Amino acid sequence: MDAVTYKEPAPILDKENPFESMMERFDVAAELLELERGVYEYLKTPVKQVTVSIPIQMDNGEIEVFEGYRIIHNDALGPSKGGIRYAPDLTVDEIKALAAWMTWKCAIANIPFGGAKGGVKCDPTRLTPVELEKITRRFTANMLDVFGPDKDIPAPDMNTNEQIMAWIMDTYSMHVRRTENAVVTGKPLIIGGSLGRREATGRGVMVATLAAMARKGISPKQSKCAVQGFGNVGSVSAKLLSDQGIRVIAVSDVSGGYYNKDGIDLAKAMDWGQKHRTLEGSGIGDSITNEDVLELEVDVLVPAAKEDQITAKNAGKIKAKIIVEGANGPTTAKADPILDANGVLVVPDILANSGGVTVSYFEWVQDRQGYFWTLDRVNRRLERMMHDAFNNVFHTAEKYNVSMRLGAYVLAIDKVAKTLKVRGIYA
Ligand code: NAD
Repeated sequence: MDAVTYKEPAPILDKENPFESMMERFDVAAELLELERGVYEYLKTPVKQVTVSIPIQMDNGEIEVFEGYRIIHNDALGPSKGGIRYAPDLTVDEIKALAAWMTWKCAIANIPFGGAKGGVKCDPTRLTPVELEKITRRFTANMLDVFGPDKDIPAPDMNTNEQIMAWIMDTYSMHVRRTENAVVTGKPLIIGGSLGRREATGRGVMVATLAAMARKGISPKQSKCAVQGFGNVGSVSAKLLSDQGIRVIAVSDVSGGYYNKDGIDLAKAMDWGQKHRTLEGSGIGDSITNEDVLELEVDVLVPAAKEDQITAKNAGKIKAKIIVEGANGPTTAKADPILDANGVLVVPDILANSGGVTVSYFEWVQDRQGYFWTLDRVNRRLERMMHDAFNNVFHTAEKYNVSMRLGAYVLAIDKVAKTLKVRGIYA
Protein backbone atom coordinates (compact mmCIF):
# COMPACT_ATOMS: atom_id res chain seq x y z
CA MET A 1 0.00 0.00 0.00
CA ASP A 2 1.09 3.58 -0.65
CA ALA A 3 2.68 5.49 2.18
CA VAL A 4 0.34 7.90 3.92
CA THR A 5 0.34 11.18 2.02
CA TYR A 6 -0.94 14.51 3.23
CA LYS A 7 -3.07 17.06 1.49
CA GLU A 8 -3.17 20.73 2.32
CA PRO A 9 -4.73 21.64 5.70
CA ALA A 10 -8.51 21.49 5.77
CA PRO A 11 -9.95 24.93 5.24
CA ILE A 12 -12.57 26.48 7.52
CA LEU A 13 -16.05 26.62 6.02
CA ASP A 14 -16.87 30.11 7.10
CA LYS A 15 -14.64 31.94 9.48
CA GLU A 16 -17.62 33.52 11.24
CA ASN A 17 -19.80 30.51 11.96
CA PRO A 18 -20.19 27.66 9.47
CA PHE A 19 -23.18 26.14 11.24
CA GLU A 20 -25.11 29.38 11.04
CA SER A 21 -24.19 29.70 7.36
CA MET A 22 -25.62 26.23 6.69
CA MET A 23 -28.69 27.16 8.73
CA GLU A 24 -29.43 30.13 6.43
CA ARG A 25 -30.59 27.71 3.74
CA PHE A 26 -32.15 25.35 6.28
CA ASP A 27 -34.29 28.18 7.67
CA VAL A 28 -35.72 29.13 4.27
CA ALA A 29 -36.55 25.49 3.49
CA ALA A 30 -38.12 25.01 6.94
CA GLU A 31 -40.33 28.02 6.31
CA LEU A 32 -41.42 26.69 2.91
CA LEU A 33 -42.33 23.41 4.60
CA GLU A 34 -44.08 25.23 7.43
CA LEU A 35 -42.13 23.04 9.81
CA GLU A 36 -43.51 23.08 13.32
CA ARG A 37 -41.26 24.70 15.91
CA GLY A 38 -40.44 21.53 17.86
CA VAL A 39 -39.40 19.63 14.75
CA TYR A 40 -37.34 22.61 13.63
CA GLU A 41 -35.50 22.65 16.99
CA TYR A 42 -34.96 18.90 16.82
CA LEU A 43 -33.47 19.01 13.32
CA LYS A 44 -31.29 21.97 14.16
CA THR A 45 -29.61 20.28 17.09
CA PRO A 46 -27.08 17.45 16.81
CA VAL A 47 -28.27 14.35 18.68
CA LYS A 48 -24.82 13.58 20.04
CA GLN A 49 -21.54 15.48 20.42
CA VAL A 50 -18.53 13.66 21.79
CA THR A 51 -15.12 15.15 22.59
CA VAL A 52 -12.21 12.94 23.62
CA SER A 53 -8.67 13.62 24.62
CA ILE A 54 -5.98 11.66 22.83
CA PRO A 55 -2.70 11.46 24.75
CA ILE A 56 0.15 10.21 22.58
CA GLN A 57 3.77 9.46 23.25
CA MET A 58 5.51 11.21 20.37
CA ASP A 59 8.60 9.82 18.66
CA ASN A 60 10.81 12.10 20.79
CA GLY A 61 9.44 10.48 23.97
CA GLU A 62 7.30 13.42 25.05
CA ILE A 63 3.56 13.13 25.68
CA GLU A 64 1.26 15.35 23.64
CA VAL A 65 -2.49 15.57 24.03
CA PHE A 66 -4.77 16.03 21.02
CA GLU A 67 -8.50 16.60 20.90
CA GLY A 68 -10.86 14.37 18.90
CA TYR A 69 -14.52 14.93 18.04
CA ARG A 70 -17.49 13.07 16.65
CA ILE A 71 -20.77 14.84 16.11
CA ILE A 72 -23.87 12.89 15.14
CA HIS A 73 -26.29 15.38 13.70
CA ASN A 74 -29.19 12.99 13.19
CA ASP A 75 -29.77 9.25 13.10
CA ALA A 76 -33.52 9.08 12.43
CA LEU A 77 -33.00 7.38 9.05
CA GLY A 78 -30.39 4.88 10.20
CA PRO A 79 -26.83 4.60 11.51
CA SER A 80 -24.96 7.86 11.09
CA LYS A 81 -22.40 8.25 8.34
CA GLY A 82 -19.69 10.81 7.73
CA GLY A 83 -16.00 11.46 7.32
CA ILE A 84 -13.13 11.97 9.75
CA ARG A 85 -10.97 15.00 9.06
CA TYR A 86 -7.53 15.78 10.54
CA ALA A 87 -6.65 19.46 10.64
CA PRO A 88 -4.88 21.90 12.98
CA ASP A 89 -7.68 24.48 12.71
CA LEU A 90 -10.61 22.09 13.07
CA THR A 91 -13.58 23.68 14.83
CA VAL A 92 -16.68 22.21 16.43
CA ASP A 93 -18.89 24.50 14.33
CA GLU A 94 -17.24 23.26 11.16
CA ILE A 95 -17.92 19.64 12.17
CA LYS A 96 -21.50 20.47 13.17
CA ALA A 97 -22.20 22.01 9.75
CA LEU A 98 -20.60 19.10 7.91
CA ALA A 99 -22.54 16.58 10.02
CA ALA A 100 -25.84 18.29 9.18
CA TRP A 101 -24.93 18.29 5.49
CA MET A 102 -24.40 14.53 5.73
CA THR A 103 -27.92 14.12 7.14
CA TRP A 104 -29.40 16.02 4.19
CA LYS A 105 -27.12 14.30 1.67
CA CYS A 106 -28.05 10.79 2.80
CA ALA A 107 -31.76 11.71 2.77
CA ILE A 108 -31.52 13.02 -0.80
CA ALA A 109 -29.44 10.06 -1.98
CA ASN A 110 -32.14 7.85 -0.50
CA ILE A 111 -29.77 5.73 1.57
CA PRO A 112 -30.67 4.53 5.07
CA PHE A 113 -28.11 6.60 6.96
CA GLY A 114 -28.13 9.61 9.23
CA GLY A 115 -25.41 12.25 9.23
CA ALA A 116 -22.20 12.63 11.26
CA LYS A 117 -18.73 14.09 11.01
CA GLY A 118 -15.65 13.98 13.17
CA GLY A 119 -11.98 14.57 13.36
CA VAL A 120 -8.85 15.22 15.31
CA LYS A 121 -7.33 18.63 15.82
CA CYS A 122 -3.78 17.95 14.63
CA ASP A 123 -1.41 18.97 11.87
CA PRO A 124 -0.73 15.78 9.92
CA THR A 125 2.16 17.41 8.04
CA ARG A 126 4.06 17.56 11.37
CA LEU A 127 3.37 13.99 12.42
CA THR A 128 5.39 10.91 11.60
CA PRO A 129 3.51 7.86 10.26
CA VAL A 130 3.96 6.18 13.66
CA GLU A 131 2.47 9.17 15.51
CA LEU A 132 -0.39 9.34 13.01
CA GLU A 133 -1.18 5.67 13.54
CA LYS A 134 -1.10 6.09 17.35
CA ILE A 135 -3.48 9.08 17.16
CA THR A 136 -5.87 7.18 14.89
CA ARG A 137 -5.90 4.08 17.10
CA ARG A 138 -6.33 5.98 20.37
CA PHE A 139 -9.06 8.14 18.80
CA THR A 140 -10.86 4.95 17.67
CA ALA A 141 -10.46 3.28 21.08
CA ASN A 142 -11.94 6.39 22.74
CA MET A 143 -14.85 6.33 20.27
CA LEU A 144 -15.67 2.62 20.76
CA ASP A 145 -19.07 3.43 22.22
CA VAL A 146 -19.86 5.76 19.33
CA PHE A 147 -18.61 3.89 16.25
CA GLY A 148 -20.16 0.63 15.07
CA PRO A 149 -21.56 -0.86 11.85
CA ASP A 150 -25.10 -0.47 13.21
CA LYS A 151 -24.43 2.85 14.94
CA ASP A 152 -21.99 5.22 13.33
CA ILE A 153 -19.74 4.57 10.34
CA PRO A 154 -16.75 6.85 9.64
CA ALA A 155 -15.13 7.42 6.25
CA PRO A 156 -12.16 9.41 4.91
CA ASP A 157 -12.27 13.19 4.63
CA MET A 158 -9.63 15.89 4.40
CA ASN A 159 -6.18 14.56 5.37
CA THR A 160 -7.41 11.06 6.09
CA ASN A 161 -7.21 8.18 3.66
CA GLU A 162 -7.58 4.42 3.08
CA GLN A 163 -4.68 3.62 5.44
CA ILE A 164 -6.27 5.56 8.29
CA MET A 165 -9.58 3.76 7.67
CA ALA A 166 -7.68 0.45 7.84
CA TRP A 167 -6.26 1.42 11.26
CA ILE A 168 -9.72 2.41 12.51
CA MET A 169 -11.16 -0.90 11.33
CA ASP A 170 -8.31 -2.89 12.87
CA THR A 171 -8.49 -1.10 16.24
CA TYR A 172 -12.26 -1.49 16.42
CA SER A 173 -11.98 -5.17 15.42
CA MET A 174 -9.36 -5.86 18.12
CA HIS A 175 -11.66 -4.44 20.80
CA VAL A 176 -14.80 -6.29 19.70
CA ARG A 177 -12.81 -9.52 19.16
CA ARG A 178 -13.87 -10.09 15.57
CA THR A 179 -13.04 -8.61 12.18
CA GLU A 180 -15.68 -5.97 11.60
CA ASN A 181 -15.01 -4.41 8.22
CA ALA A 182 -18.41 -2.67 7.98
CA VAL A 183 -17.39 -0.22 10.74
CA VAL A 184 -15.74 2.14 8.21
CA THR A 185 -15.98 2.79 4.48
CA GLY A 186 -13.33 4.04 2.09
CA LYS A 187 -11.13 1.10 3.10
CA PRO A 188 -8.51 -0.57 0.92
CA LEU A 189 -10.10 -3.18 -1.41
CA ILE A 190 -8.19 -6.01 0.21
CA ILE A 191 -9.99 -5.54 3.55
CA GLY A 192 -13.50 -5.02 2.20
CA GLY A 193 -13.43 -1.79 0.20
CA SER A 194 -15.67 -1.41 -2.83
CA LEU A 195 -14.71 -1.27 -6.46
CA GLY A 196 -15.59 2.14 -7.89
CA ARG A 197 -15.44 3.99 -4.53
CA ARG A 198 -12.50 6.19 -5.52
CA GLU A 199 -14.21 7.42 -8.70
CA ALA A 200 -17.74 7.50 -7.22
CA THR A 201 -18.00 11.21 -6.42
CA GLY A 202 -16.70 12.23 -9.86
CA ARG A 203 -18.99 9.72 -11.55
CA GLY A 204 -21.95 11.16 -9.66
CA VAL A 205 -20.89 14.67 -10.73
CA MET A 206 -20.86 13.47 -14.34
CA VAL A 207 -24.36 11.97 -14.07
CA ALA A 208 -25.71 15.12 -12.40
CA THR A 209 -24.07 17.32 -15.07
CA LEU A 210 -25.63 15.36 -17.94
CA ALA A 211 -29.03 15.47 -16.23
CA ALA A 212 -28.76 19.24 -15.74
CA MET A 213 -27.67 19.75 -19.36
CA ALA A 214 -30.66 17.74 -20.57
CA ARG A 215 -32.95 19.99 -18.51
CA LYS A 216 -31.32 23.09 -20.03
CA GLY A 217 -31.40 21.64 -23.56
CA ILE A 218 -27.61 21.78 -23.89
CA SER A 219 -25.96 19.05 -25.92
CA PRO A 220 -22.76 17.66 -24.33
CA LYS A 221 -21.04 17.39 -27.70
CA GLN A 222 -21.16 21.13 -28.34
CA SER A 223 -20.46 22.24 -24.80
CA LYS A 224 -17.52 23.55 -22.80
CA CYS A 225 -16.65 23.07 -19.18
CA ALA A 226 -14.19 24.35 -16.54
CA VAL A 227 -13.21 22.41 -13.44
CA GLN A 228 -11.76 23.99 -10.31
CA GLY A 229 -9.59 21.60 -8.26
CA PHE A 230 -7.80 18.60 -9.65
CA GLY A 231 -7.84 16.17 -6.74
CA ASN A 232 -10.00 13.09 -6.43
CA VAL A 233 -13.29 14.78 -7.31
CA GLY A 234 -12.05 17.33 -9.86
CA SER A 235 -9.80 15.04 -11.90
CA VAL A 236 -12.31 12.18 -12.14
CA SER A 237 -15.18 14.57 -12.93
CA ALA A 238 -13.13 16.26 -15.68
CA LYS A 239 -12.13 12.94 -17.23
CA LEU A 240 -15.62 11.45 -17.19
CA LEU A 241 -17.19 14.67 -18.54
CA SER A 242 -14.67 14.71 -21.36
CA ASP A 243 -15.47 11.03 -22.08
CA GLN A 244 -19.05 12.25 -22.65
CA GLY A 245 -17.87 14.63 -25.38
CA ILE A 246 -17.80 17.80 -23.23
CA ARG A 247 -14.74 19.95 -23.97
CA VAL A 248 -12.92 20.67 -20.71
CA ILE A 249 -11.15 23.93 -21.57
CA ALA A 250 -9.73 24.74 -18.12
CA VAL A 251 -8.71 23.01 -14.91
CA SER A 252 -6.96 24.30 -11.79
CA ASP A 253 -5.31 23.32 -8.55
CA VAL A 254 -3.46 25.19 -5.79
CA SER A 255 -0.74 26.09 -8.31
CA GLY A 256 -3.24 28.05 -10.47
CA GLY A 257 -5.41 27.62 -13.56
CA TYR A 258 -4.59 26.09 -16.95
CA TYR A 259 -6.47 26.97 -20.14
CA ASN A 260 -6.58 25.32 -23.55
CA LYS A 261 -9.35 26.38 -25.93
CA ASP A 262 -9.13 23.04 -27.79
CA GLY A 263 -9.56 21.03 -24.60
CA ILE A 264 -7.13 20.01 -21.85
CA ASP A 265 -5.33 16.69 -22.39
CA LEU A 266 -6.77 15.09 -19.26
CA ALA A 267 -4.83 11.83 -19.44
CA LYS A 268 -1.63 13.88 -19.45
CA ALA A 269 -2.89 16.12 -16.63
CA MET A 270 -3.83 13.13 -14.47
CA ASP A 271 -0.55 11.41 -15.13
CA TRP A 272 1.43 14.58 -14.26
CA GLY A 273 -0.72 15.26 -11.21
CA GLN A 274 -0.15 11.76 -9.88
CA LYS A 275 3.61 11.96 -10.32
CA HIS A 276 4.16 15.56 -9.17
CA ARG A 277 1.14 16.20 -6.87
CA THR A 278 0.60 19.51 -8.72
CA LEU A 279 -0.28 20.56 -12.27
CA GLU A 280 2.57 23.06 -12.28
CA GLY A 281 4.97 22.41 -15.15
CA SER A 282 2.58 19.97 -16.85
CA GLY A 283 2.34 22.05 -20.04
CA ILE A 284 -1.36 21.23 -20.40
CA GLY A 285 -2.40 24.81 -21.13
CA ASP A 286 -1.77 28.51 -20.73
CA SER A 287 -1.51 29.76 -17.17
CA ILE A 288 -4.50 31.70 -15.88
CA THR A 289 -5.56 32.58 -12.34
CA ASN A 290 -7.91 30.54 -10.21
CA GLU A 291 -10.39 33.43 -10.35
CA ASP A 292 -10.28 33.36 -14.17
CA VAL A 293 -11.18 29.67 -14.21
CA LEU A 294 -14.44 30.42 -12.41
CA GLU A 295 -15.38 33.26 -14.75
CA LEU A 296 -14.72 31.63 -18.14
CA GLU A 297 -17.23 31.52 -20.98
CA VAL A 298 -18.37 27.91 -20.47
CA ASP A 299 -21.61 25.96 -20.31
CA VAL A 300 -20.69 24.07 -17.15
CA LEU A 301 -18.56 25.02 -14.16
CA VAL A 302 -17.56 22.33 -11.66
CA PRO A 303 -16.10 23.77 -8.43
CA ALA A 304 -14.35 20.74 -6.93
CA ALA A 305 -11.71 22.25 -4.67
CA LYS A 306 -12.98 23.78 -1.45
CA GLU A 307 -15.66 25.92 0.13
CA ASP A 308 -16.50 29.61 -0.30
CA GLN A 309 -15.16 29.96 -3.86
CA ILE A 310 -18.28 31.51 -5.41
CA THR A 311 -19.20 34.49 -3.29
CA ALA A 312 -21.26 37.65 -3.58
CA LYS A 313 -18.09 39.22 -5.03
CA ASN A 314 -17.68 37.02 -8.10
CA ALA A 315 -21.13 35.38 -8.53
CA GLY A 316 -22.25 38.14 -10.91
CA LYS A 317 -19.25 37.50 -13.16
CA ILE A 318 -19.92 33.82 -13.65
CA LYS A 319 -20.87 33.01 -17.24
CA ALA A 320 -21.55 29.28 -16.86
CA LYS A 321 -25.15 28.25 -17.44
CA ILE A 322 -24.82 25.34 -15.04
CA ILE A 323 -22.76 24.95 -11.84
CA VAL A 324 -22.34 21.43 -10.51
CA GLU A 325 -20.93 21.55 -6.98
CA GLY A 326 -18.39 18.75 -6.66
CA ALA A 327 -16.96 20.35 -3.51
CA ASN A 328 -18.84 20.80 -0.25
CA GLY A 329 -20.02 24.38 0.24
CA PRO A 330 -18.25 26.04 -2.73
CA THR A 331 -21.00 28.68 -2.96
CA THR A 332 -21.81 31.03 -0.11
CA ALA A 333 -25.40 31.70 0.93
CA LYS A 334 -24.97 35.33 -0.21
CA ALA A 335 -24.05 34.21 -3.75
CA ASP A 336 -27.17 32.04 -4.14
CA PRO A 337 -29.65 34.84 -5.02
CA ILE A 338 -27.20 36.42 -7.50
CA LEU A 339 -26.82 33.15 -9.40
CA ASP A 340 -30.57 32.55 -9.28
CA ALA A 341 -31.29 36.03 -10.65
CA ASN A 342 -28.87 35.37 -13.53
CA GLY A 343 -30.60 32.12 -14.42
CA VAL A 344 -27.66 29.87 -13.51
CA LEU A 345 -28.81 26.34 -12.74
CA VAL A 346 -26.91 25.28 -9.61
CA VAL A 347 -26.83 21.56 -8.84
CA PRO A 348 -26.17 21.81 -5.08
CA ASP A 349 -23.38 19.99 -3.27
CA ILE A 350 -25.70 17.82 -1.17
CA LEU A 351 -26.98 16.33 -4.43
CA ALA A 352 -24.06 16.75 -6.86
CA ASN A 353 -21.35 15.10 -4.75
CA SER A 354 -23.55 12.44 -3.13
CA GLY A 355 -22.07 9.73 -5.40
CA GLY A 356 -19.31 9.26 -2.81
CA VAL A 357 -21.59 8.48 0.10
CA THR A 358 -23.80 6.34 -2.14
CA VAL A 359 -20.92 4.02 -2.99
CA SER A 360 -19.85 4.12 0.68
CA TYR A 361 -23.32 2.74 1.36
CA PHE A 362 -22.70 0.05 -1.29
CA GLU A 363 -19.41 -0.78 0.46
CA TRP A 364 -21.19 -1.19 3.80
CA VAL A 365 -23.87 -3.38 2.17
CA GLN A 366 -21.22 -5.57 0.51
CA ASP A 367 -19.27 -5.92 3.79
CA ARG A 368 -22.40 -6.99 5.61
CA GLN A 369 -23.38 -9.42 2.86
CA GLY A 370 -19.85 -10.74 2.57
CA TYR A 371 -20.45 -10.64 -1.16
CA PHE A 372 -18.66 -8.21 -3.43
CA TRP A 373 -20.05 -6.67 -6.58
CA THR A 374 -18.45 -6.14 -9.98
CA LEU A 375 -17.42 -2.63 -10.97
CA ASP A 376 -20.14 -2.64 -13.59
CA ARG A 377 -22.81 -3.39 -10.96
CA VAL A 378 -21.51 -0.65 -8.65
CA ASN A 379 -21.50 1.92 -11.45
CA ARG A 380 -24.93 0.97 -12.81
CA ARG A 381 -26.52 1.18 -9.38
CA LEU A 382 -24.77 4.46 -8.63
CA GLU A 383 -25.94 6.00 -11.90
CA ARG A 384 -29.52 4.88 -11.28
CA MET A 385 -29.54 6.31 -7.75
CA MET A 386 -27.97 9.61 -8.88
CA HIS A 387 -30.60 9.96 -11.61
CA ASP A 388 -33.42 9.32 -9.16
CA ALA A 389 -31.97 11.78 -6.65
CA PHE A 390 -31.54 14.44 -9.34
CA ASN A 391 -35.11 14.04 -10.57
CA ASN A 392 -36.53 14.09 -7.04
CA VAL A 393 -34.71 17.34 -6.24
CA PHE A 394 -35.65 18.88 -9.59
CA HIS A 395 -39.32 18.08 -9.13
CA THR A 396 -39.34 19.37 -5.55
CA ALA A 397 -37.76 22.62 -6.75
CA GLU A 398 -40.43 22.91 -9.45
CA LYS A 399 -43.22 22.16 -7.00
CA TYR A 400 -42.11 24.90 -4.59
CA ASN A 401 -40.93 27.19 -7.38
CA VAL A 402 -37.47 27.53 -5.85
CA SER A 403 -33.84 26.85 -6.82
CA MET A 404 -32.48 23.30 -6.88
CA ARG A 405 -30.52 24.14 -3.73
CA LEU A 406 -33.65 24.99 -1.79
CA GLY A 407 -35.45 22.09 -3.45
CA ALA A 408 -32.74 19.77 -2.12
CA TYR A 409 -33.07 21.14 1.42
CA VAL A 410 -36.86 20.92 1.28
CA LEU A 411 -36.74 17.30 0.07
CA ALA A 412 -34.21 16.27 2.72
CA ILE A 413 -35.78 18.12 5.67
CA ASP A 414 -39.24 16.87 4.76
CA LYS A 415 -38.03 13.26 4.67
CA VAL A 416 -36.21 13.43 8.02
CA ALA A 417 -39.13 15.32 9.62
CA LYS A 418 -41.61 12.68 8.39
CA THR A 419 -39.36 9.93 9.77
CA LEU A 420 -39.31 11.68 13.12
CA LYS A 421 -43.09 12.03 13.11
CA VAL A 422 -43.72 8.39 12.33
CA ARG A 423 -41.16 7.19 14.89
CA GLY A 424 -42.57 9.53 17.50
CA ILE A 425 -40.86 11.13 20.47
CA TYR A 426 -39.71 8.66 23.11
CA ALA A 427 -40.05 9.93 26.63
P1 NAD B 1 -8.40 16.61 -2.85
O1 NAD B 1 -7.58 17.07 -1.70
O2 NAD B 1 -8.13 15.30 -3.51
O3 NAD B 1 -8.33 17.73 -4.01
C1 NAD B 1 -8.51 19.09 -3.79
C2 NAD B 1 -7.99 19.82 -5.03
O4 NAD B 1 -8.31 21.21 -4.93
C3 NAD B 1 -6.48 19.75 -5.19
O5 NAD B 1 -6.18 19.59 -6.57
C4 NAD B 1 -6.01 21.11 -4.71
O6 NAD B 1 -4.76 21.49 -5.30
C5 NAD B 1 -7.14 21.96 -5.23
N1 NAD B 1 -7.25 23.28 -4.62
C6 NAD B 1 -7.13 23.64 -3.32
N2 NAD B 1 -7.31 24.96 -3.19
C7 NAD B 1 -7.59 25.44 -4.43
C8 NAD B 1 -7.90 26.71 -4.95
N3 NAD B 1 -7.96 27.79 -4.18
N4 NAD B 1 -8.14 26.82 -6.27
C9 NAD B 1 -8.10 25.76 -7.09
N5 NAD B 1 -7.81 24.52 -6.65
C10 NAD B 1 -7.55 24.38 -5.34
O7 NAD B 1 -9.91 16.68 -2.35
P2 NAD B 1 -11.19 15.94 -2.95
O8 NAD B 1 -11.38 14.66 -2.25
O9 NAD B 1 -11.13 15.98 -4.43
O10 NAD B 1 -12.33 16.91 -2.42
C11 NAD B 1 -12.60 18.15 -3.05
C12 NAD B 1 -13.91 18.70 -2.49
O11 NAD B 1 -14.95 17.74 -2.72
C13 NAD B 1 -13.95 18.98 -0.98
O12 NAD B 1 -14.82 20.07 -0.75
C14 NAD B 1 -14.57 17.71 -0.42
O13 NAD B 1 -15.20 17.94 0.84
C15 NAD B 1 -15.59 17.41 -1.50
N6 NAD B 1 -16.05 16.02 -1.55
C16 NAD B 1 -15.19 15.00 -1.73
C17 NAD B 1 -15.66 13.69 -1.82
C18 NAD B 1 -14.75 12.54 -2.10
O14 NAD B 1 -15.26 11.43 -2.27
N7 NAD B 1 -13.46 12.73 -2.20
C19 NAD B 1 -17.03 13.44 -1.65
C20 NAD B 1 -17.91 14.51 -1.46
C21 NAD B 1 -17.40 15.80 -1.41
